[in-house]
Amino acid sequence: MKLFDVYPINNINIVRAQGSTVWDDKGNEYLDLYGGHAVISIGHTHPHWVKRIEDQLHKIAFYSNSVQIPIQQELAQKLGWLSGKDDYQLFLCNSGAEANENALKLASFHTGRKKIVAFKKSFHGRTSLAVAATDNQAIVAPVNETGNVVFLPFNDEDALKKYMLQNGDEVAAIIIESIQGVGGINMANESFLQLIRTLCDQYGAVFIADEVQCGYGRSGKFFTADYAGVNADIYSMAKGMGNGFPIGGILIAPHIAPKHGMLGTTFGGNHLACAAALGVLEVIEQENLLERAGENGNYLMTELLKIGDLQNVRGKGLMIGFDVPDELKDLRKNLLQKHRIFTGEAKPNVIRLLPALNLSKEAIDNFLQALKEEINALKFAKESSTVAQ
Ligand code: PMP
Repeated sequence: MKLFDVYPINNINIVRAQGSTVWDDKGNEYLDLYGGHAVISIGHTHPHWVKRIEDQLHKIAFYSNSVQIPIQQELAQKLGWLSGKDDYQLFLCNSGAEANENALKLASFHTGRKKIVAFKKSFHGRTSLAVAATDNQAIVAPVNETGNVVFLPFNDEDALKKYMLQNGDEVAAIIIESIQGVGGINMANESFLQLIRTLCDQYGAVFIADEVQCGYGRSGKFFTADYAGVNADIYSMAKGMGNGFPIGGILIAPHIAPKHGMLGTTFGGNHLACAAALGVLEVIEQENLLERAGENGNYLMTELLKIGDLQNVRGKGLMIGFDVPDELKDLRKNLLQKHRIFTGEAKPNVIRLLPALNLSKEAIDNFLQALKEEINALKFAKESSTVAQ
């Protein structure tokens, strides 16, 4: 049987990983600044995380949600404490799309309404409602087109106010990534998030913060929306939550508590996934990773801003993006092929950095040196070819 090619892939076969280092089947070593698309939060195969999963695996991996699963409560407790959202309820599922699917469904249950406000360049996942709220027509199948989603310009306060003034009474939810990831590392203004809070209160709509990529400590605070000093009604989470073990979830504010039967899943919150997620939170706490992500991020950002050839360096904590001018269009490819550094891309001209939160300063310095070398090499090659013509 042939595999379905989900994504265009390179021919590298990664077989082993530790911290922010990964190795291919030929023994070549790479620096991972992509973290499997923001999934690796505490570093690959972190010993504490491995032990947590291993210990749990010997006891029980899964039993149906029809019995008590105390490890879920343990996870909720820790998550409430570290995120500062102690009074919220936790619903556990298996991915980011599933988290948003449930968040949007719950908003509709809660309000009895159908309309969803999302933003241009958003990405919320590939299941029915999540994809309907994603601004990429190429991945929306005809059956996903509900006609209930409107895409407003990101950070445009006037457009949002105007839309809500005319349609606010029909809006179930406003869903936003505080930093758009797939869309190219676009940061929501704090005043924009504050306006969403105000409008949701005014019109009785549900504020959904999709923190699947920008959350879980990546930006230096547990949730990026926290920078704006606002509380969302629902936070969706996944990616860094399991450090590679599939788990997702939503935090639900007390005033929109779901009724029995509204939400459910077979695998969500299984013992093994909870052990993995607890392992992550324990490491975040023990290694002070919120603070470290902020500090490392500031250092990396400051140094990147000094490199004049990179345009529009932006982001928060360890979620950083920059535009690459045309003459450096091979930068990402060369960083991988010549310097063995994995980075991510958003559009062909945007490089995204989403490393583990405990990336070392030494690794950052190695990256910066490789980056500068490669920029000079590309510029030199360009100049030589211009002279040759
Ligand atoms: N929301 C955001 C902000 C994302 O970046 C992603 C994944 N790129 C998703 C949701 C979907 O997550 P998953 O792939 O786990 O379904």
